[in-house]
Amino acid sequence: MSAFIDKMRRRAGRYLDVRSVEIAPARGVFSLSFDDIPVSAWTEAGPILAEHGIKATYYVCGGLSGGFNMDLPQFETEHLLALHEAGHEVGCHTYEHASTLTLSPAELDASLARNAEWVSERLDGHVMRTFAYPFGDCALGSKAVIDGRFLCGRGVRDGVNTGKADRNLLQAIGLESRRLPGYDLEAMMAATAASKGWLIAYGHDVMDGPTPYGCTPDDLDRVIRLAKAADLDILPVDMAWERIAA
Ligand SMILES: [Zn+2]
Repeated sequence: MSAFIDKMRRRAGRYLDVRSVEIAPARGVFSLSFDDIPVSAWTEAGPILAEHGIKATYYVCGGLSGGFNMDLPQFETEHLLALHEAGHEVGCHTYEHASTLTLSPAELDASLARNAEWVSERLDGHVMRTFAYPFGDCALGSKAVIDGRFLCGRGVRDGVNTGKADRNLLQAIGLESRRLPGYDLEAMMAATAASKGWLIAYGHDVMDGPTPYGCTPDDLDRVIRLAKAADLDILPVDMAWERIAA
């Protein structure tokens, strides 16, 4: 019964309280993001991003620092400092990596405040500007909380953001070994360019023999090459937002 209720709550979060934004950049945009953050999302992905001269967005949970998530070692403060120093965006993913379906709006706000303080202390006052929903779960009551604190929120529902999009629940594709075989990435990049849309990708671990939620270094390299071949601007989520809102 609770699975059914969660399904209905996810549906309410998807279709109700939509605050739309017009996606209309001069050229199609591609954004890369990494959630949680497993160590390899920096140690393996960072050099690939640098080689291509692009910046990504890292969605951090202070509560996962130095711990394990899905059996993978998570970032330490030194990794966060390094990726921030390298110019990548640090965004928010709640403090505890909690589904918004399990939090009241007040509890969600408290988690966001705790994460903001945790990050600010370590990154010299850095203020996170964008958000990604843990597990992609968006409870209806959470959207106003996200809207009040961030430029935009990102979910995990497949698709290119074009025309009018929900600023508090943007669509994204998974750089995940369980999902990648089902995508026609060339066609998605071409559609993004043709529609002047915004394609966002999210991943977790980056390594040979990745988890179902991660990808290989070659997968990451390939998606970047395809975005470049399609002549998309490659920007972190916050800078993409500014491009689109401008
Ligand atoms: Zn996550």
